[in-house]
Amino acid sequence: MFCPICLAKSTKTLTAISSQRSAIYFSARHPSYRQKKLQILISKLWSLRKSCKIVECSNCGFIFSEPFVGGTKEFYDFAFPNQMAFGYPDWKWEFDIGIKRLKKYSKSNPKILEIGCGKGAFLKRISKLKISKNLVGLEYSDYGVKETKKIGIDCFAKDIREFALDQQDETFDFIFIYQVLEHLDYPNKLFDIVNNLLKKCGELVIGVPNQKKSLFNFRNNAYRDIPPYHIGCYVKKTFEYLAKQHGFCLEMVEIEPYDFRETISLLYSQRYHQFIHKNYKSRIFLKMDNYKIFRKLLMICDLLFNPLVFFEVIFQGPSIGGGSQVAVFRKL
Ligand SMILES: [Zn+2]
Repeated sequence: MFCPICLAKSTKTLTAISSQRSAIYFSARHPSYRQKKLQILISKLWSLRKSCKIVECSNCGFIFSEPFVGGTKEFYDFAFPNQMAFGYPDWKWEFDIGIKRLKKYSKSNPKILEIGCGKGAFLKRISKLKISKNLVGLEYSDYGVKETKKIGIDCFAKDIREFALDQQDETFDFIFIYQVLEHLDYPNKLFDIVNNLLKKCGELVIGVPNQKKSLFNFRNNAYRDIPPYHIGCYVKKTFEYLAKQHGFCLEMVEIEPYDFRETISLLYSQRYHQFIHKNYKSRIFLKMDNYKIFRKLLMICDLLFNPLVFFEVIFQGPSIGGGSQVAVFRKL
């Protein structure tokens, strides 16, 4: 099999995930007929295969699902019937990096595009700080588009490939893509499009999950990058390759600072969810899952009975860092 980024043949399979496990991950608390439907939908995305592999490229370090196919609108609508469940945050660490880059920029009123702008939280901050009035957002969910428009920012429910068709080349000074790339199955195409849309010396700022953290979660039975939701995991080497291939200079890659409390709480809540997913047929567990005290109790038991996991957080956590990483590219 080929790496979808660098086309290298040299790959290593890390694990396999069945369509049933993926369906349960996204619908453990839904009625069983919905779980079955979602499993069929996922299986169709994987060309009727019952499982997909998680593979690491030995050349560029990219970790990807094989088949390398992202979720369709049908998948997202089905897996997240309530779009609020996407849990759009008001602030993320990577927003600060973006604001710093904008403040450093010498020209006034730069033209800014955010691909996957959620409910417009980042664009709203730029507007409040009076950095620019030239703001455009693209967003998959109807909810996000509505919320972004409410704050007076142009927002389109368009795919970047569709949006780019109506745009002139070299239109934008900045393009931001936060927590989107890991969902997409056309990274090389995306870099080509973004390069066309950016002015010369324009900046592309990308925020994706921290790969070290993903592997840490994988080792500790708290893996969250389940395809077809997350299908690609990037490292510095992958970004270097993409920059070289698509006419960019990679200016920096920064990992989110480590936060002990956040790491512990996310790890144990994810391990709890994996437990519920394994017992998704047990009505008692699903009923008990409605009670916060039950969830807390199970997490405390997990912590007491699996001390090695806790020690791994203590000793390895600081060198792994937080959940996100940011890469900044400049168009040559
Ligand atoms: Zn590769």
